[in-house]
Amino acid sequence: MKQDNCIFCRIISGEIPSHTIYEDDQFKVILDVAPATKGHALIIPKKHYANLYELPEDTAADAIKLAKKMMKIMTDKLNCDGFNIIQNNGEIAGQTVFHFHMHLIPRYEDDGEILKYISLHPSQEEMEETKRIITE
Ligand code: AMP
Ligand code: ZN
Repeated sequence: MKQDNCIFCRIISGEIPSHTIYEDDQFKVILDVAPATKGHALIIPKKHYANLYELPEDTAADAIKLAKKMMKIMTDKLNCDGFNIIQNNGEIAGQTVFHFHMHLIPRYEDDGEILKYISLHPSQEEMEETKRIITE
């Protein structure tokens, strides 16, 4: 269901313009307005779901299939050297638009460490404890 206060719903309906690079009955793929690299794009389902928790499994599967298809096309056309697929869920995870989307970020040699995170250094005991919590 379209949400009037959702920027991506308004892009899907055409109310707000976008640089659309692919469209089918389920998805629109647009260029990100603030790209991390040349070609940074967003896969957006036409139906409003806030995040991956809410996305139906079938749509999630189709989104990944489309990511694979777009990666191939974009690698051919943009001559990039790799790809990051990023998908943020929740404010703490960096989500700023609460309509599910996947970032397709073409990577080029020498484009810099645009996505580096600082690693924790857990002990073996902490690793075991984390495993226990998740798997029990
Ligand atoms: P996230 O932080 O994962 O929620 O990503 C939201 C993304 O949407 C950001 O990378 C923004 O640059 C992008 N964005 C926001 N508004 C627009 C817009 N009107 N057209 C294209 N991309 C947008
Ligand atoms: Zn929406």
